[in-house]
Amino acid sequence: MKPSPSDYRSDTLTQPTAAMRAAIAAAEVGDDVFGEDPTVNRLQQYVAGQLGKEAAIFVPSGTMSNQIAILGHCQSGDEFLCEAGCHIYNYEQGAFAQIGGVISRTFIGHGGILELSQLQDAIRPDNAHVVRTRLVSLENTHNMAGGRIQPYENVAAICSWARKHDLATHLDGARLYNAVVATGISAADWAQHFDSINICFSKGLGAPVGSILVGSADFIALAHRRRKCLGGAMRQAGVLAAAALYALEHHVDRLDEDHRHARTLGEGIASISGLQLETPEVDTNIVIFNVDDRLSTGEAFVDALAARGVRMLAIGGQRVRAVTHLDVPLENVDDTIAALQACAAQFE
Ligand SMILES: *Cc1c(COP(=O)(O)O)cnc(C)c1O
Repeated sequence: MKPSPSDYRSDTLTQPTAAMRAAIAAAEVGDDVFGEDPTVNRLQQYVAGQLGKEAAIFVPSGTMSNQIAILGHCQSGDEFLCEAGCHIYNYEQGAFAQIGGVISRTFIGHGGILELSQLQDAIRPDNAHVVRTRLVSLENTHNMAGGRIQPYENVAAICSWARKHDLATHLDGARLYNAVVATGISAADWAQHFDSINICFSKGLGAPVGSILVGSADFIALAHRRRKCLGGAMRQAGVLAAAALYALEHHVDRLDEDHRHARTLGEGIASISGLQLETPEVDTNIVIFNVDDRLSTGEAFVDALAARGVRMLAIGGQRVRAVTHLDVPLENVDDTIAALQACAAQFE
C-alpha cells in the first residue's frame, strides 16, 4: 500500500521506487554468512571507503548496529556517556543494559547539542566503587532535537578529548547523510572523529531495510560475532544491499529537497498562532513543534490533522514531529500548512 501523499510521521515510511526495485531484482547474491554475497561485500567496501575506515558490516536495523557498537566498546560494568534525548538511550529498549550489563550516563544538551565542558569531569576514577567510563556516543543528525546538526567544532572537540582519555567514540549517524548534504562536510570528515559509525538506509535514503556499522577491521570482526549472537546474520542479503547501494548512488543529493520542504513547513508552522517551533531553525528534514495547551494536546491535534488527510506523530505532551521524505512531494507543503492552520483554528 502506498502511504498517503502527506504522511509525515517518519522518513522510514519511504517505499522502494521502481528503479530501486529493478536494482533489487538484478542483485547478484550469495550466502553472506560465508562472506560470499558479492552485493553485500560491495556495499560494505563502498561505505567503509566513503567514511575512510577499514571495514563495515551490513545489519538489519539501526538498533542492532548501535547496540553491536556499544557492546563492542563496553563490557559488563562499563558505562558510556550520551545526550539525554538520544535514540540509543531512549528508543532501543536499553538493550546495552539488558544484554550487556552496560550502563549509560546522560547529559542534557542545549537543543540536543552537548558541550565539551559538560563532559570534562565525567570520567570516573579508577576505583572499585564505580563503573568504568569507556565510551562517548553522539547522534548526528539528532532525531528528537528536530534533526539538529551537531556543530562540527563540538564534535571535533569532544572526540579529541575522548581520545586523549582513552574513551572510545561512537556516532549514531542514522541520518548522517542529511548532515553531509546540509553542511557540505563530507561523510569522511565527520567520520574521522569516531571509532565507529552507524548509518541507516531505511530512513530518508529510501531503502526498505538495513543499516551499516563502520570501523576498524578488528572492531568489525568483533561485530561479526555480536551480529551472529543477536540473530542478525543474513544469507542472500544482497537483495537488500542492492537497495542500499542504489540509495547511496541516487538518493543522497535529493535530501536537499527534503530539507527545503522541512524549512518551508517550519516557516508555515511558525506563522500559525497556537503552534510553536521547538527550535527556531530547521536544520534538516525533521520539524518538531508544540501545540499550545490552550488548544489541545499533541495527540488530539494529530488526530484532527489526520481527519484532514495529513499525518504527523505526537511524541508526548504537546509535542508533534513532522519528517519530510521521498514520498511526500514538496508541492504538498502549501496544502499541509493550510491543514495545520485549519486544525489550529478549529481548536481556538
Ligand atoms: C531510526 C533511528 C535508529 C535506528 O532505528 P531502527 O528502527 O532500529 O532501524 C537509530 N538512531 C536514530 C537517531 C534513528 O532515528
